[in-house]
Amino acid sequence: MASLAMDQREGWIWFDGELVPWKDAKIHVLTHGLHYASSVFEGQRAYGGEVFKLRQHTERLIASGRMLDFELPYSAHEIDAACRLVLEKNNLVDAYMRPVAWRGSEELSVPGRNNTVHVAIAAWVWPSYFSVEEKLKGIRLQWSKWKRPSPETIPSAAKAAGLYMICTLSKDAAMADGYADALMLDYRGYVAEATGANVFFIKGRDIVTPTPDCFLNGITRQTLIDLARRNGFTVTERHMQPEELSQFDECFLTGTAAEVTPVSEIGDYRFTPGEACRTLIDAYAAEVQPRRAAAE
Ligand code: PMP
Repeated sequence: MASLAMDQREGWIWFDGELVPWKDAKIHVLTHGLHYASSVFEGQRAYGGEVFKLRQHTERLIASGRMLDFELPYSAHEIDAACRLVLEKNNLVDAYMRPVAWRGSEELSVPGRNNTVHVAIAAWVWPSYFSVEEKLKGIRLQWSKWKRPSPETIPSAAKAAGLYMICTLSKDAAMADGYADALMLDYRGYVAEATGANVFFIKGRDIVTPTPDCFLNGITRQTLIDLARRNGFTVTERHMQPEELSQFDECFLTGTAAEVTPVSEIGDYRFTPGEACRTLIDAYAAEVQPRRAAAE
C-alpha cells in the first residue's frame, strides 16, 4: 500500500502545549531522545470519537517516563485534554493516536537530566483493514532470534523507544521471510510476546497467556482477560515453554493496533482460528465502542 510519508501529511499535531501544522512538528538532529533512546510513547485508538481507555494510556505514558527517570511536564488531565483536542482539531472519529515524550537538545552526552522533556501527540486514520472472516484465516508468525530482556537489564515495563530496537529487527526479518510478525521468547526461554502485541493460547474453554514479568502488560491484554472471563473462559497467566504450544487449538494476539488478531502458525506449530477467536473478536469490538448516555 503506497501511503503518504508520515512527515508529509496534513493536519495538526499537539507539540509542547500548542497545535502546530503537521509538517512543522520537527525536532533538532542533536536531540537526546534520538541518540540515547530517552523517549517513551503510547499507541491508542479512538473509536466513535473517544479514545479507548484514554486515562490508562496517559497514566502508562507518565509511568514510562518515570521509569526512564523523567517527569512529563503535563498532568494526566492536561494530556487527556490534549488528546481530545487533537481528535477534534483533525476531525477524527476512528483513529490511531501516538503521544510521545522525549528528552530534548540542550546537551548531548549520556547524562540526560539537564534536557527539557517534550511531549507531542499526533493522530491519523488507521482502520482495521480486515473483515472478521479475513482475520479468522490467522496470521503466520516466525520465531524471533531476539529475546525479551530481563527487568534487571532494562526497564522492561516501560513503553520506551529503546525496547523496540529488537522488535523492529525481529519484525523486519519475519516480513522478509514472508511472515506477518515474529514471536519472541524471553531471556529465560519462556514464550513472551509478538513485536507489538501480546499472545494468548486456547484449548477448549481454557485460555493461557504468558505472565508479563519482562514485557508490556498490554491494556488490550488486560481488557481481553476480563472479557474472556465474562464470556465463560478460564484464563491462566503463567510461564509457558515453547514446546507446550502443540497442546493448543487456537491462538491470538492482542494490542491497540492489532486488536484481536488470530494466529494460524508459529514456527512449526499450527492453530485453527475458530469459535473462541470469533467470540473474542466480537466481544472486543463491542467493548471498544464508546458508552453513550442511555437516553441516546
Ligand atoms: N507489547 C508490545 C511490545 C507492544 O508494542 C504493544 C502495543 N502497545 C503491546 C504489547 C500491547 O499493548 P496494548 O494492548 O497496551 O496496546
